[in-house]
Amino acid sequence: MRSQGSWPLAPSVPPAGVDPADWTDWGWQMRHRIRDAEGLRRYIEPTPEEDAAIVDLARRFRFVITPYFASLMDPRDPDCPIRKQVVPRPAELGDAAGLADPLDEVAHSPVKNVVRVYPDRIAFCVNNECALYCRYCLRKRMVGDSEWTMQKKELEVALDWIAATPEIRDVLLTGGDPLVFSDARLEWLLTRLRAIPHVELIRLGTRLPVTLPFRVTDDLCAMLERFHPLWVNTHFNHPKELTADAAAACDRLLRAGIPVGNQSVLLKGVNDDPETMKSLCETLVRMRVRPYYVYQAQLLEGTEHFRVPIEDGIEIFKGMRGRTSGFAIPQYVLDTPHGKVPLDHPFAKGRDGDDFVVEAWDGAIWREPNPRPKDPA
Ligand SMILES: *Cc1c(COP(=O)(O)O)cnc(C)c1O
Ligand code: SF4
Repeated sequence: MRSQGSWPLAPSVPPAGVDPADWTDWGWQMRHRIRDAEGLRRYIEPTPEEDAAIVDLARRFRFVITPYFASLMDPRDPDCPIRKQVVPRPAELGDAAGLADPLDEVAHSPVKNVVRVYPDRIAFCVNNECALYCRYCLRKRMVGDSEWTMQKKELEVALDWIAATPEIRDVLLTGGDPLVFSDARLEWLLTRLRAIPHVELIRLGTRLPVTLPFRVTDDLCAMLERFHPLWVNTHFNHPKELTADAAAACDRLLRAGIPVGNQSVLLKGVNDDPETMKSLCETLVRMRVRPYYVYQAQLLEGTEHFRVPIEDGIEIFKGMRGRTSGFAIPQYVLDTPHGKVPLDHPFAKGRDGDDFVVEAWDGAIWREPNPRPKDPA
């Protein structure tokens, strides 16, 4: 097993019988994705609970894992942080509080798949496909569901809306995952966006450097480089995800002049331990990837077992202050229908009963249901 935060980072190891040239080919990885318990057995020994959950949850939320990401799993440890992110658990079926769309994104969409909560910037969900599906995904309601596929015509409607809305200076392409698109499709989209004079900044939100780093080819980077200023935010959650392959993917982006940031989700049993979070952030910085945000896990259906009390989250980041490089410390935020609210800041008002109360940038008061902290031992 890879030790946490080891350096230099180790490469992924393909299973016996797989040609290394296939392994590093992103098309091969996409075509050989794991979609059932049988496929998973090549990498791990699923527990009876995992086996049952794969079947029970199949209709609710897609089960797909890249061979690369599966190869990072501990075959024998059900508590493996990689396994927990992508292999279903029965706990997903027993969540009374969770919502399908906790950020009310549908209500904040001026046109299909554009989410606007700020005057000057939008999240544009250009694609509903990902290389794999994370069990805690905020966009569970739409990812992997063909109803949310953007036809070229619909992408054009959204582009026309951006062109007709001069306040929009910053466009975040997200999904799903925009890097699941072919280079040609992405190039078409970026060309159209760059033709809009008021779009100053383009950002890509992508998990592929984490889940399928071989997608970040030299050809892709050479194409992206033509659309500067372009920023990338990726989504590493745990030091085990920091392989030589992932670091090389980030390095290719960085050499193309693209600043790379990281957004994690604070997940119970995955990265809610101060040592794990510090090791993640410090190793990211060695990769020249800047920890940007860590999100409080949303009140999303089927994810109660992942939610950490906000007070415990605040302690983790408070504990990093003074003990590591300032730019290794991400901002811990709560996303709300009014935008993101920093939780280590006077905007965070504190607990009121079973809620945590925050003030958004626009003065709105938001109450987030908040689990009770652990009793002090
Ligand atoms: C996160 C987000 C943004 C970008 O927010 P920054 O704080 O600028 O990174 C923009 N629009 C929506 C809807 C978002 O969720
Ligand atoms: S990569 Fe992002 S959008 Fe895709 S399933 Fe995971 S969290 Fe959701």
